[in-house]
Formats: sequence, structure tokens, C-alpha cells
Amino acid sequence: MKPLVTLLIRNAEQVVTARTGGRPARYSWRAAEILPGGSVACAGDRIVAVGTQEEVLRNLELSPHALVIDAVGCAVTPGLVDCHAHPVWAGSRVDEFEERIRGVSYEEISRRGGGIQATVAAVRRASEEELVTAALRRLDIFLSCGTTTLEAKSGYGLSTEHELRLLRVIQRLRHMHPVELVPTFLGAHTVPEEYRGRREQYVELLVNEMIPAVASGALAEFCDVFCEAGFFSPAESERILLAGKDHGLRPKIHAEQLSRSGGSPVAAAVGAVSADHLDWCEEEDLHALAQAGVVPVNLPGATCFLGKERYAPARRMIEMDMPVAIATDFNPGTAPIFSLPLVGSFSCLRQGLTPAEALSAMTLGGAWALARQDEIGTLEEGKRADLVVWPTKDYREIFYYLGSIRPRWVVKNGRIVYQSADESSLGHRGITGKDRT
Ligand SMILES: [Zn+2]
Repeated sequence: MKPLVTLLIRNAEQVVTARTGGRPARYSWRAAEILPGGSVACAGDRIVAVGTQEEVLRNLELSPHALVIDAVGCAVTPGLVDCHAHPVWAGSRVDEFEERIRGVSYEEISRRGGGIQATVAAVRRASEEELVTAALRRLDIFLSCGTTTLEAKSGYGLSTEHELRLLRVIQRLRHMHPVELVPTFLGAHTVPEEYRGRREQYVELLVNEMIPAVASGALAEFCDVFCEAGFFSPAESERILLAGKDHGLRPKIHAEQLSRSGGSPVAAAVGAVSADHLDWCEEEDLHALAQAGVVPVNLPGATCFLGKERYAPARRMIEMDMPVAIATDFNPGTAPIFSLPLVGSFSCLRQGLTPAEALSAMTLGGAWALARQDEIGTLEEGKRADLVVWPTKDYREIFYYLGSIRPRWVVKNGRIVYQSADESSLGHRGITGKDRT
């Protein structure tokens, strides 16, 4: 039996599918597939057809309770996938923001006990309820920027007790908010204060206590390490990631962010799902990553916020046909940025990506970096019904207007989970149907 359509988005000016159209390459770089006058039909939590309204409904039937979004004058894209973020924390680092404007470097702030250590202290003091409440407010903002899937790293607890608590908070949030959270254990974010001068013992704690506890509680999918001078060395990173892998946690790594840290060869050696930042990577690092099938994640918002000039070589990654991703790196110290569209603008302006490439990198690319490329990231039959309706006739304006174009509607798992307040001036007729949710 044919599935009944429960949600129909029709008459869009553009439907940008980001699908690869059966190409052997993993990517839809060169030509964003744009269907003019397109429609997307969903049944339950799945997309069941994409095309013109006639094509879409030719073999399908509308449920009598179906919701219909008239997307006249709008562009429709896949839901945005933010594959690198640190959204659960407490405290404020706005003082550091001003200090840095006055010329103090991030490295200097860290040496003085600010930086990650300041957030760790605030997180340890905060109650679980405070962490949940603050994170929920942030998830609302992510959703209003079009993000439907968001990675959530721990890494501000840095003791077994507090790391597990952060991961439990993330598990709770997964049942409380429509933005889908993907949990990553980042106990190796930095060596905490109390282990200063005995870092080997902290690595032992990570490997022998924290990772087994995280895995036995099924609290994370990925294990991540901040591989950087002054944080974790390549050898330590490799040891931690391999321990994670032994416990079923798939490796990810912060690599070549502030210097050429040596994280890329580690990512290749351990078979990491992604290597993130890469501002200082060189050609041979890219070759190692490409050969091992590691997804390169670009975080140009962090580069910009830190006032650095050297951005990851995203154009080169595309030339090499790597499955490039862009993410926000949302965190209190180096990237307090919710908006993937804004980060996409940075990638266009500072890394030379085209709008089509930027869109692919924050949908299908993000999905690759979270090992969900068969589930989300494109608008095509069988995938999860995650999509965004933007109040613009030309999706390129999402990047042209530097984060100012906000979604009109956001759909997650076939349900409308966000709609903007302004119904009047956007050039469309709106939504019909009995069960407005
Ligand atoms: Zn990060």
C-alpha cells in the first residue's frame, strides 16, 4: 500500500535537494540540484517524494489530516546538520571576549586560568537543572537558525563524575527538544587544574575509568580529543582514541587548529570519522585524511572569532573530492555562534566556497561527519523528513545576507517544530490543514 502523505510542502520557488543523484562521488559539489516549483511529500517521519507537485502526488495520496505548507516565494533545503558543537555549559566568558579585543591572546587567557578551565569550574558548580535549562534555551536558538541535528560534546566536566553528568544531561535533552542531539565524549578537552604536573595520570583516568564508564552507560556515540600543543599530544590522542574505539566509541579529533599539531596522521591511523578545524593542515595531512576516508570539518567561525588569518584549505578539500563539512563549533570561548548560515557565509567569503558548496557542507557534509549520511542531509525519498523553508526565492541569499535570513518553517521528523512569528511580509500564502502543530 502506498503511504498516505501527512505533510506536503508545495509550490516552492526552489527545492535544493543536495542529493548526489546516483553519482559515484560522495558529493553534490559541482551542481546543487535545484527543482523550481518543487514540492516535498512526507509520510510520518520520512520523505516519500521530491519533485513537482504533480510528480509528487501522481503516485501518492494526501491523508485527510495532512498539513500543507504553501511555500510560494520560498526556498526549501534539507535541515541543517551542525556536526561540531559544545552546547552544554554554564557560566559566562564575555569578559574574555573584551580582553581579547584589548589584545590578550586565547593562549594567554588559558594560561591565566580562564578559557576552558573557567567553564569547567562553572559547570562543576552548576546543578543539573541549571545545565538543562541553559541548554534548552540554546537549542531553541539553534532551531530558529535552521539546525535540526546537532552534535553535543561533553568536555567541561573533566572528572568521571562531571563528564558522566554532562552526558546524562545530553541524554535528557534528547527527550526534551526537537533538535536531535548526537552525543560525543570529550573528556580529553584539556588536562584539568588538579592534574597539573601529572598529566599521564589524567590520561590513565580517561583510558581506564572514564571511557569504560561512558561506554557501559551507552552515553556517547563518539570519542573526541583536543590534539594541540599544551593540550594532548599526538601519541596521547592516539592512545585515548584507540581506547574509545575498543569500547565502541567512534573516533573524532580536534586537529591542526592553533598550530600544525599532528592530529591529522592520528585521525588517519585510528580511522577517525572526522578531523575538525584543520586551519594549519598541509597538503600531506589532507592526503592522509582523504586516503583514510576521514571527513574534514571546517570551523571558520572559530577562526574568525579568534581573530586568526589562516583558514582551513576548504577549496583544496573540494578539489580532492573529500566529503567536506562545515560546523559552528558553538562553544563559550572561541565560537559563541549558533547560526550555521552565518558560518556558511564565512566559508564563502574566507574559504572560497560557493553557496552550493557551503549548503552541501552544512547538510550532507555534516551528516557524513556524524556517520548519518544515509539517514539525513539531503531531500530524497526514504530519508528522514528534516527540512527548512526559507523566506527567500534564491537560496544563495541565505549566505549573502550573513546569517540574517531566518527560517520560515523548520520540519523535524515530519513535524513542524518551528515557525517564525512574521507571517505577513514573506510572499507566501501559508499553511493549511487541520492539525496545526
Ligand atoms: Zn570544538
